[in-house]
Amino acid sequence: MNDNRRNGTYALVPDRIWDGVAGETRSGLAVVVMDGLIDAVLPVSGVPAGMETAALPGCTLLPGLMDAHVHYSSAMGPAFLAAGVTTIRDVGNDLSWILGERERHAKDLSAGPAILCCGHLLDGPRVYWPQLGRAHGTPGEIADSVRRHAEAGVDQIKLYAGVEPPLMKAAIDAAHALGKFVVAHLQATTAEDAVRLGLDEFEHLAGCGVAWRAASEVEDDLMIDQLLERDVVIDPTLVVWDRLGRVLDRPFHHDARRAWVHPRHLDIWQRYLSRFGPAEHRWRYQGAMVHLKRFLRRAHERGVTVALGTDTPFPHLVPGMSVHDELAMYTDAGISTVDALRSATSINARVLGIEGRTGSIKAGLRADLVAVRGNPLERIEDIENVQCTVREGRRFEPSALMRDHRTAFDREPDGAVTRDLLDYVDGKHVNRPAS
Ligand SMILES: [Zn+2]
Repeated sequence: MNDNRRNGTYALVPDRIWDGVAGETRSGLAVVVMDGLIDAVLPVSGVPAGMETAALPGCTLLPGLMDAHVHYSSAMGPAFLAAGVTTIRDVGNDLSWILGERERHAKDLSAGPAILCCGHLLDGPRVYWPQLGRAHGTPGEIADSVRRHAEAGVDQIKLYAGVEPPLMKAAIDAAHALGKFVVAHLQATTAEDAVRLGLDEFEHLAGCGVAWRAASEVEDDLMIDQLLERDVVIDPTLVVWDRLGRVLDRPFHHDARRAWVHPRHLDIWQRYLSRFGPAEHRWRYQGAMVHLKRFLRRAHERGVTVALGTDTPFPHLVPGMSVHDELAMYTDAGISTVDALRSATSINARVLGIEGRTGSIKAGLRADLVAVRGNPLERIEDIENVQCTVREGRRFEPSALMRDHRTAFDREPDGAVTRDLLDYVDGKHVNRPAS
């Protein structure tokens, strides 16, 4: 059922629909897609006679998934679509390259998911990732950089590990003056300070000391109170810490989903991991996982906004499919399946500022959808059973995407992400991103 038209009209008839917001699925409904948008959600009996209909027996239809933390490479596009991911936020890349990819993906629906981007990682005086990042020594410099990024047309601003409080304040103030949302990977500034300075979202739970140790509920709540008071979003990317703690675990090496990863990136993974420190270093992450999950569950329970991202192409994170892994991590932490799925759909859309365009199944929004066999609200693993992905009305099947993407692998990825990772594994730059 591949269909090259953005402007076709058809009805999707799954067994059940989950709209991205409600607490349960609904049956007996069809979704009518017209000109790339959701035209109507109506009883199956209401589908006009003669309209093209795609039956999806045994399937649940959900909003297309979103990955809120990606460093994109052009080789990843088909994998995202195959996993049901229709939108990504790139949180650190070469500025002009990612703006070009955002444009290309807006025009060519088959290139991959829709992209929102932040441009370069805006770092402190020393830059961790030379291709992806840019160094800033003074508050004035980083404020200028924020303004240049906004002028270039980025969607949001991303601050990186070396940004200390005076630079963070200058960057946040400059971004907010231009109406830009600010995301950070914290290290040189604590989460407490960043929240006080007005940060909108922080990644990986980095910089949030209480989340990394055996803290009491009272201690967790002191931090959570601050997040709630300022409506700060967290994007925990638990899969990153999980992988860092288990780099030599064999299951990842036998994961069939690796077929979706470019051979160059597989090679980088292998070399990255062999460089990744002594066992004691890895145990630290394994131990931290318990605390990170505890903090995440408590933060979610108390109403903190939890986005969902992965940090692909970090080792052992298959583009798109690592969203499924992160969903399972959320439920493993004690979050309900429906809330985990909300994070990956309607909540991510709100955090990315696009809830008026996509992220739920509602008339007038983009027809960004995924049909999976089974019911992921009952069994989160069913999210892996992608039958069909719809991006702005155009339908894709994983088997056809798999055929196409192999030809794309004839080209070497040469984006900033690949170059920085290669230099890192070759020992040409020694900075390791903070944990
Ligand atoms: Zn990242």
